[in-house]
Amino acid sequence: MANLRFKAVDQAQSRITPEVTAPSVKVSDYYGCNVFGMDAMRQHLSAEAFKKVSYAIKTGSKIDEDLADVVASAMKTWAMSKGVTHYTHWFQPLTGSTAEKHDAFFDVQSDGSVLEKFKGSALVQQEPDASSFPNGGIRSTFEARGYTAWDPTSPAFIVDQTLCIPTVFVSYTGEALDYKAPLLKALAAVDKAAVDVCQYFDRDVTRVVATLGPEQEYFLVDRALYMNRPDLIMTGRTVFGHSPAKGQQLEDHYFGTIPQRVEAYMRDFEIECYKLGIPVRTRHNEVAPGQFECAPTFEEVNLAVDHNLLVMDIMDKVADKHNFKVLFHEKPFAGINGSGKHNNWSLGTNTGVNLLGPSSRPKENLRFLTFFVNVVKAVYDYSDLLRASIGSSGNEHRLGANEAPPAIVSIFIGSQMASVLDELDKKGNVKLDKGENMYMKLGIDKIPPILLDNTDRNRTSPFAFTGNKFEFRAVGGSANCANAMTVLNTIMAETLIQFKKEVDALITKGEKKEVAIVNVLRKYIKASKTILFEGNGYSDEWKKEAEKRGLKNVASTPEALDFYVEKKAIQVFEKNNVMNEREIHARHEIMLENYIKKIQIESRVMGDLVLNHIVPTAVKYQNVLVGNVQGLKSVGIKGKYTENTVATIEKIAEYVDGLLADVEEMTEARKKANNTEDVRERAILYNKEVKGFFDKIRYAVDKLELLVDDEDWPLVKYRELLLIK
Ligand code: ADP
Ligand code: MG
Repeated sequence: MANLRFKAVDQAQSRITPEVTAPSVKVSDYYGCNVFGMDAMRQHLSAEAFKKVSYAIKTGSKIDEDLADVVASAMKTWAMSKGVTHYTHWFQPLTGSTAEKHDAFFDVQSDGSVLEKFKGSALVQQEPDASSFPNGGIRSTFEARGYTAWDPTSPAFIVDQTLCIPTVFVSYTGEALDYKAPLLKALAAVDKAAVDVCQYFDRDVTRVVATLGPEQEYFLVDRALYMNRPDLIMTGRTVFGHSPAKGQQLEDHYFGTIPQRVEAYMRDFEIECYKLGIPVRTRHNEVAPGQFECAPTFEEVNLAVDHNLLVMDIMDKVADKHNFKVLFHEKPFAGINGSGKHNNWSLGTNTGVNLLGPSSRPKENLRFLTFFVNVVKAVYDYSDLLRASIGSSGNEHRLGANEAPPAIVSIFIGSQMASVLDELDKKGNVKLDKGENMYMKLGIDKIPPILLDNTDRNRTSPFAFTGNKFEFRAVGGSANCANAMTVLNTIMAETLIQFKKEVDALITKGEKKEVAIVNVLRKYIKASKTILFEGNGYSDEWKKEAEKRGLKNVASTPEALDFYVEKKAIQVFEKNNVMNEREIHARHEIMLENYIKKIQIESRVMGDLVLNHIVPTAVKYQNVLVGNVQGLKSVGIKGKYTENTVATIEKIAEYVDGLLADVEEMTEARKKANNTEDVRERAILYNKEVKGFFDKIRYAVDKLELLVDDEDWPLVKYRELLLIK
């Protein structure tokens, strides 16, 4: 039988790029056409109902039953006019992907006839029989079920003739079983805390929304090649594969010309995104071959998170048509950059101000500085929790792998802001004399309004200020941003609350408001200085320096996840009404379980591939060599070549022996781990013992890949996987 690998490569090389046509050249003609957003609502609701709904959405107030009926009916009319037959509650269980259960609009009447119906009650609440979603012990399978509840702040949309309604997923006892519920609470907390602080500067601020622009990195692999790799199919990453002669050394891929086939794919999924009102605006090649990025314009965090999940979904679906597979895994290929999801984040007011944007006016800059320094303080105080928020088996390969931000949390603020903070820090406690120019005296009259200095970008920092927003770069490519965003917004809320308390105390003592603010900011700068780092985050010096500074460097995921359940973390979540202790523990357990499952699958795939693919192939080739040597000897040829061939035969035997032994030991390690009751201990065993074999096994397989005749090697090689014609 012909080698399946070559068949796959042949297929990949003879692809014809499918035709992509947009509904119109102008995106504005069809942007959001599949979203039941403000425009559709205005069209399909009475003026009064529309007013009520938009008020409820804006203020987060409750929508009563009657109104829900009206909205549901309008949604149904709108959706059916677009060929929709089913509806579903769309939610984000802790498995990491999204879930849906479709119900048809039509219903059987008592006389047997059918009628299309969509009641308010069905819009507001649904019970997905979801007993097998992870719940960390909150909802045992036979006990009370969970239900999904409508999130009116994220508009309903149509995918595949189905009306999708964004919802939260909670247990009957009220505990969150998803990513969205705690996120919404964290956003409410930061809204309140930030509005309170904004009152120092502007009484008109009544609402602060956190904003997010997630830049999504991904790899594309031809579908046929993907199907040849059981490891990619089952784990999302290649567990074996020798680095190609040309990887990313030349960095000639970065921002290079996008291959035509990829460009067509991008255009196609972007069109689908526009229909759903998702503002994906930029696209380019990334550093690694076969790697690309897509970035949307920022939106309110809750919506941006939903949209990012949808984008991933759409990208996955559209890839089929183009015979691609899209990989979001944090590290699909060893030795080549992995994929992250930079979370660009800021806070904006209802008055249109970006609170992390500097201005040319000193007065506004005091406000900017206030929020800026509070972010620094929040990240300093809760760096552990931020580290935990990005922990996953996939991201474990990326963090600290000398290409992505290290597992050490630090902040890069750029030289200009560094000198502004230095200056503030140097001053003693400020006292104002009569008639003095306060801003000059406080040294905040000269922050340059434009800090966007592109040469000053530091790509090695996990958390960077980029002119008018912070960029949390350590988030993994496949992650739901909600995890990181829940933590970031919660700790920001907490820090702002403390800040306000301290400032108010000084004001009560008779201090002038501005002076009080600056003095507290100074204190915060002093306290959180050690988290600021402007140098190369990939360097070994930084690891040493960070250790001296007392910053933690936790490389293992199970250990990083410990921070979730520390007292300090539980307090900050509980105090800000984001999650209670039970929910946090449940979540922690689920994350550990996810980790275990992923490593377990990887380990099994490795074992299977070694036993069924690698060893048989190596032995087959070894036999060829043995026959060759015997033949040579039989005709009396002994020389160097024969010696070398014998050496190769020995090498193969050595690797095969090693592999068989390692796979067996790894299986034993898995058994031992599986028999460990405590989930945290089990996760640590998987990390240390089971995963401990991965590098060794991989090393031997990759060596065999170099030894064995290319004609016989069964798995598509890196150079083939990474090349897109
Ligand atoms: P880059 O960081 O690559 O130079 P941009 O500055 O254009 O690119 O921004 C990258 C991402 O940051 C985009 O998704 C953009 O929408 C987002 N972004 C810009 N401003 C904000 C903001 N105020 N809040 C959140 N995200 C923002
Ligand atoms: Mg960026």
